[in-house]
This record gives sequence, structure tokens and C-alpha cells, in this order.
Amino acid sequence: MLDRPHPTPEAPTTDPFALAKALSGVHLIGGRYVPARSGKTFSVVNPATGQEVARAADGDAADVDAAVEDAARAQKEWARMPARKRGALVAQCAALMRTHVEELGRLIALETGKALRTESRVEANTVADILEFFGGLGGELKGETVPFAPDVLSVTVREPLGVVGAIIPWNVPMLLMALKVAPALVAGNTVVVKSAEEAPLAVLRICELMNRVLPAGVFNMVSGFGPECGAPLVAHSKVRKVTFTGSVETGKIVSKAAAEKLIPVTLELGGKSPMIVFADCDFEKTLAGAITSMRFTRQGQSCTAASRIYVERPIFQRFVDAMAEKVDAMVMGDPLDEKTDIGTIISEGQFEKVKSFIDEGVATKGANGRACSAMPSDPALKKGLFIQPYIFTGLDKDSRLVREEIFGPVTCVMPFDDPEAVLAEANDSEYGLAASLWTNNLKVGLNLAHRLEAGLVQINQNLVVQANLSYGGVKSSGLGKEASLEAMLEHFTHKKTIMVNMG
Ligand code: ADP
Ligand code: MG
Repeated sequence: MLDRPHPTPEAPTTDPFALAKALSGVHLIGGRYVPARSGKTFSVVNPATGQEVARAADGDAADVDAAVEDAARAQKEWARMPARKRGALVAQCAALMRTHVEELGRLIALETGKALRTESRVEANTVADILEFFGGLGGELKGETVPFAPDVLSVTVREPLGVVGAIIPWNVPMLLMALKVAPALVAGNTVVVKSAEEAPLAVLRICELMNRVLPAGVFNMVSGFGPECGAPLVAHSKVRKVTFTGSVETGKIVSKAAAEKLIPVTLELGGKSPMIVFADCDFEKTLAGAITSMRFTRQGQSCTAASRIYVERPIFQRFVDAMAEKVDAMVMGDPLDEKTDIGTIISEGQFEKVKSFIDEGVATKGANGRACSAMPSDPALKKGLFIQPYIFTGLDKDSRLVREEIFGPVTCVMPFDDPEAVLAEANDSEYGLAASLWTNNLKVGLNLAHRLEAGLVQINQNLVVQANLSYGGVKSSGLGKEASLEAMLEHFTHKKTIMVNMG
């Protein structure tokens, strides 16, 4: 139970500016809001205006230690609670999320620049869905009986791992956090989350809401930067499992640190997801699919963004033109405005990175980059990190734009003639997160689906992460799965064998 008094509003609020201020300067440790031990804070900026909206607690090893110690203390009793009761509490948190969808949607829009209608509200609803799903799975933490000998009873039981350290990114922070926290808690672990420095607020509010339901110390959150706050979490001797979503580069650092302690890690890393469009596809449906697959409404800031689109030559030009027309019709603007389809890039660093890819594409001989939609005209947004979506054609397969994860509203469209050749090109990537195929010939579609190197292949659709479906990549895209029952069992419990000799 949350230890009040604390400065945040008790009831849901639709004023994200006031809420951001109220959430300033604190971690949530042991059921209480506490400032950083060092007293330091860092700036949280509204990327649509460049204005500071809050200051977050700047955590370091001392804060992490306090959070992990509290989580470790709480874990014994939490693990003793019947699993279905733990699930029921998580489901109760889901109900609380439902009543705060509008609040959380507005807050995440403010701190990330993701449009409220197309992205932020959707994310808030998905959090509730994920908590509901895992909340119902307490009874599934089953073991087995193992045939060994007639007079020996041999059984396995699922046990929690202990304290889980969860490190999350800024692009879909609420959803990605829920994918980690919900199964970890239902399985009997306690959790310390390290939020992303670019987006620490909405996840902190979720932690607060859940702390109104959960026992103190079960779910803790620290904010801060990677090396200063994330690294000590991974290294802490009482953290027995790390689950991480972020870049490949940081994933490798986290994985090495976890290996030093011989603890398991789950890694959800980058992607360069191919979308393969055959001439016999349902044209309009596929076109709409390309827009959602590329996550233009999230400024392309998605690991599964269809940033390589291969289109069969007979419909190639028509497809590119129609796609550009569709993106042109999308409205870029204030993330909190209901009319807005496309918001901003998260930070200046990402903005510069995406711009450099676009500049490189534009400067490439033989390439054609089409800037779509239009920059917002509102003078209040003139410092906003808006980037026009780009559709590139004519790029070579070795171009950095075709090979590297841009994490921005930039897609490369390439023609193809032969299914085997396009399969080889799609698989010629360091990544293997997701892929989609668009065809009415299921024989061709299924054949390729089996041979694509990806954790998730969708034919004639491209949905984002869904509860109940295992999600996770191969190759440099990661290790392990999330979002499913299997993921909870595999990644948040271990199997103990117990034998009883009755002879
Ligand atoms: P990005 O490039 O978008 O910042 P990162 O992979 O660096 O992606 O960040 C994802 C998360 O990992 C963030 O919460 C960040 O603070 C954290 N992080 C960054 N560096 C480290 C590190 N050395 N150890 C642990 N966590 C880190
Ligand atoms: Mg980083």
C-alpha cells in the first residue's frame, strides 16, 4: 500500500502539466516516494516545445541499493502469497489502469511527443490489457510429476527467481514495462524498474497506482541514466534476473554484466523488419498495412517498424505513390491535439541521428527521398522535434539506410522480381525481430513465413505486441520471449525438482 501523504493527485487528472510537476524529483522505493540520495535531479522535456515539464530524481548506486534491499525484503512474503491471489492483485491494478487511461495517455504524450489519439491513449489501454492477461495466469504456475521409480515420487515446482531488475526504453515505456512487471510479479518475484531517462514520468505514475494495491517493496522504481543507475541495478548481488529492452549496443553491455553474476537475462533489442508485398495482395489493405507497419504515427520509433519494404515490380511505383499520398494526408502537430496523427521525435540526440540518415539518403546518387506530410505551422511548436516522414526509393541494398535501424520516420522501398531473391535479401540482416508478408497466395506466403529469420511473421496484417502471443527476436534482435504464458514460465521462474523416496 502506498504510504501517503505524497504530492501527486489521488484522483485521475487530465492535466498532464500539473501531474508532471507533481511527479518531480522522486523514486518510488518501498511503497514511498523518496528523492535521490544525492539530491540530484535531471530535466524532463516536452519534445513538442522544448520546455522543461518536470525534474526527475537522478538515481545512482545508493538509490538502486535501497530499492533492491526493499524488494528483497518484500519478496519472501510475496512469494508465499498464493499465486492466484498475486494474480488477483495484478488484475486489480489493471482495473486502476482502466480508470486512468486518459491521464496516462496525456502524460506519456507530454513527455514523449507521441500523439494522444493515434499512440498514447492506445498504449495506456494496452497496459491495462497486459495486466489483465497476466493477472489471470496465477493458476498456471504448475509443475509436473516425473516418472522415475515406482516408490519415488518425483515432482517439479515453479519457483520465482527473486528480485528482478527491469530496464526499459522510452519509445513505448508503459507497455514495455507492463510486459516485464506483470509476469514477474504474478510469478512471485519482486521488481525494481529503472526507467528511461527520456520518459520517467508516466511509468512512475503507474508504479504509484500499482503501489496503492500491492504490498510495499513489491514494485519499486528508480529513475536515472544508464551507466550511473542502470548498470548498478544489473550488477547488484541481490538482483537475480535482468530483463532489458533497448539498443543492441546496451543489450550487449547488460548481457556481459549479467554473465559475470551468472544470472539469466531477457533482451528485446533492435530490428530492421522487412515487409514483403506481392502484386496479388489486396492493394488498399496492404497500403494501410504499410502505414501502420512503419509506425508513422510513432514517428517510426518502433523496433518492429517496417523500415524495409520490398514490393513486387508490377505494382512498385503505384504502391510508392499511393503510400506517399497517404502519409501526406497525415497531420503532424501538437501531440495533445486530437487532430494530430504524427507527433515528435523523443530527444535532440535522436533527432540529429535521424536527420543524418535522411541527409545521407538525400545525398545518395540515384536515390529519391520524398518528404511527406507537412511541418506544423503553430509558432508554439517551432522548437519541437518534428521531422517530416521520408519514403526513399532507389537505395542500394548496402546503403546504411537499408541496413541499419534508424528509429525514425524513414522507410526504404525496393522493387523485387523473384521471391527467392527477396527472401535472401530480407534475411541478409543482423536483425530478426519481425517481418510481414502481403499476398493472397497462401502457398507462397506460408513458404516464406517458414523461412524468414524473425521471431514474429505476420501475413496480411502487422499488429503491435499483443498479450498472449510470444514476442521476441532472433539474431541481434534479442534473447527470450515476452507477452505470453510461456514467457512468464520460462523467464521469471525456475523449476525445482523435489523427490520423495517412499520405499
Ligand atoms: P537509447 O539508445 O534509446 O538510449 P539504450 O539501449 O541506450 O537506448 O537505453 C535503453 C535503457 O537502457 C535506458 O533505460 C537506459 O538508461 C539504459 N541503459 C543505458 N546504458 C546502460 C548501461 N550501461 N547499463 C544498464 N542500463 C543502461
Ligand atoms: Mg542510450
